[in-house]
Formats: sequence, structure tokens, C-alpha cells
Amino acid sequence: MRQVAIYGKGGIGKSTTTQNTVAALAEAGKKVMVVGCDPKADSTRLLLHGLCQKTVMDTLRDEGEDIDLDDIMKPGFKGVKCVESGGPEPGVGCAGRGIITSINLLESLNAYDKDLDYVFYDVLGDVVCGGFAMPIREGKAEEIYIVASGELMALYAANNIAKGIQKYAKSGKVRLGGIICNSRKVDNEYELLKAFAEEIGSQLIHFVPRDNIVQRAEINKKTVIDFDKEANQANEYRKLAKAIDENRMFVIPKPMTQDRLEELMMQYGFLDAIA
Ligand code: ATP
Ligand code: MG
Repeated sequence: MRQVAIYGKGGIGKSTTTQNTVAALAEAGKKVMVVGCDPKADSTRLLLHGLCQKTVMDTLRDEGEDIDLDDIMKPGFKGVKCVESGGPEPGVGCAGRGIITSINLLESLNAYDKDLDYVFYDVLGDVVCGGFAMPIREGKAEEIYIVASGELMALYAANNIAKGIQKYAKSGKVRLGGIICNSRKVDNEYELLKAFAEEIGSQLIHFVPRDNIVQRAEINKKTVIDFDKEANQANEYRKLAKAIDENRMFVIPKPMTQDRLEELMMQYGFLDAIA
């Protein structure tokens, strides 16, 4: 069983990319569980065709400790097992605690079934937040992918996440599997992301184009693969899923300095601006 966590700047496309990739893996016959680690509880909406009715934290609050696996794990697209950890009531407590509680509960209910090929954690990406490292700290996620784009803030966050991975890799098995570019149609974006990924010692595992079909599918509460399996974008997610499935490159990243990151941006992103 491979346990994968998806990180990246807020709003970069973690939940969308995770669910579309998982849909592609499920379509290819893989058995997958998705654990949403965001209090928004929207990590499984496209797989479940609507927001999860009850998170793990809601269920614990309402029903106490006597819980069945079926209460917190719902079958989604092609049998993908969907769990939302949920969180504390807004403004109270730490989201990280909800994740630990959920992971422990899933353990005790034997959700980490030997038949599973993958567990995906869609994590609240902000390094500053205490919840950031929970799936890593709990010794669960060992394979990380960072979603980024050619925008400075997305790469800034990606570099910070790489710092976090580097820190936890020293004492554990966590490794970076690659950078996923979720395109924002920035100039020279492919070259910039490739250079960024290689400089931190990793790889650009796939370049996912920006396409409005993602929004059309989202309105219909579906992944692109579920909404229009013939679409180009569906194939892009299949390519990403295949690249992850065949990936053998797992590294301890070497994050760069802020100055070096800005230099790289100048070199690739703003060639015209400095010409
Ligand atoms: P958060 O940090 O808030 O959890 P996130 O990183 O999970 O955000 P998403 O919710 O997946 O981000 O995506 C944000 C928006 O971007 C969504 O409305 C989604 O439809 C859109 N989006 C993501 N990827 C693409 C794409 N490749 N093409 C077009 N739109 C996209
Ligand atoms: Mg999200």
C-alpha cells in the first residue's frame, strides 16, 4: 500500500487534482482510499457527487466513540473509499488534532486494508498551520507530491513545503515524489517548473493544463473523468496517475533560498521584463 500526501499553496488545486488522479487510478482498477485532512471537508466532494454528509469529527461529536467504519467511510466513484476528517468548530482548536484522531480511528477500525493499493491524503497545505505535517508525523504518508504553478507565491509555498519535508525526512521515511504543475498559464511555466523541480533535486511529474472543463465538472459535482471521460483533460489526469503509479524517484528535497527562487523566476518567468 502506497500512502501519498498532496501539498501545495491554498487554492492551487490540491483537492481537484487529488480527486481526478484518484478517479484515474480507480478507473485503472486500483483500490484507493482518500482521507481529506481539511476542515472544509471538500476533499471527496467530486468522488461522492456532493459534500460528505458527516466528517469523522462530526460523527465522534454526535455519536461518541462507538462508531462503525461505514459511519465514516463512504464509497465514491468506482468504489473509492472516502473519509473526511473534518475539524474543530471554526475558530476553536487545532485542525491537526482532527487528523490524528481520524487516522487513529481508521487504524482501530482496520480501514488500512491490505487490499488497498493507495491511500491519498489531501492536506491543508499551509506550512505555518500545525496540521501541516500530521499525516507525515503519524508515520502515514511517505510519498509527497507538491502542486504548484508558475506564480511566485505558489513556488514560494512549494519551496517551504520542501523545507518541511526535508526536516521530517531526517527522522522518518517521508520523501518527495515530484512536483505537479497545475497550470495558471504563466509565461514559460513548463520550463520554470521543470527547472524548479530539478533544482530541489526532484522532478516535474506532470504538467496539468488549465481547462474550464474542470469547473464544468465541479459544478456537476464530478471529476472530469466521471463527467466526460473522452475529454482531453481526463487524459491529462490519466497521464498524471500513470506517472505517479510508475514513479520510482523519491528524494529528500534540497529547498533553495528565497533569493535563488526569485532569480529562477527572473530567468524563466520574466525574461521579457528584464530584457
Ligand atoms: P484549498 O487550499 O482551499 O483546499 P485547493 O488547493 O484544494 O484549495 P481546489 O479547491 O482543488 O484547490 O481548486 C481551486 C479551484 O481551482 C477550483 O474551483 C477548481 O475547479 C479550480 N481548478 C483546479 N485545477 C484546475 C485546472 N487544471 N483547470 C481549471 N481549473 C482548475
Ligand atoms: Mg482543498
